[in-house]
Amino acid sequence: MPSRSLVLFDIDGTLLRTEGVGIAAMLRAFTTLHGDRGFSFEGVEIAGALDGLLFRRLMEAHGLLPHDEAHEKFRETYRAELDRTLTPAKIRRMPGAAELAAALDTQGAAVGLLTGNYEETAQIKIRAAGYNHTLFPFGAFGADGPSRRHLTPVAMARAAAHHGRAFEPARVTIIGDTPLDVDCAKAHGCRAIGVATGPYSSSQLRDAGADLAVENLADTEELLRWILAL
Ligand SMILES: [Mg+2]
Repeated sequence: MPSRSLVLFDIDGTLLRTEGVGIAAMLRAFTTLHGDRGFSFEGVEIAGALDGLLFRRLMEAHGLLPHDEAHEKFRETYRAELDRTLTPAKIRRMPGAAELAAALDTQGAAVGLLTGNYEETAQIKIRAAGYNHTLFPFGAFGADGPSRRHLTPVAMARAAAHHGRAFEPARVTIIGDTPLDVDCAKAHGCRAIGVATGPYSSSQLRDAGADLAVENLADTEELLRWILAL
């Protein structure tokens, strides 16, 4: 019998880390398209932010207009840069994440993505890290809304469309490594697991409102019990 649970995974800092390759690819895309203007993300909060928002912030910070055509060009150039530079050697899978996603799937839970990455670059990262991409057949991505809070209902609607059944917010668990992941769950009555494999400690994630905060996702059995025991 299918479980009534839906679990949404963040990507960067949660499923994997690209150790700066993603950010470097973005900056090279800006330079390729707009010339060397000393593009940098200094002073811009990257963790948990949406790619579409990072695009706008960086364009505006350099006096460039973030119009739709420029955004499309940026997406395509960034995708090509990431595809070229993100080799499996430059990516690390976070402990236990693949096992947890597979175990949830085996238990009949719906598993998807809720990430600030564009859909196409999310897929590049997932593939480069060696994940079975069929584990994440739907998701909400960095161009699906103006902020992370907007992505939660998008992901839930796509889960419902994919599985042919709706999921109650109380049975939706969002797993992420930043206070913004926690916020986008709690804002919609969902549960949040904070994982300290990104820039925040488990106590910071607990303080941000995570229902459960863990050092990593290695304890599959314990996490399964917590997620599915509803
Ligand atoms: Mg993250």
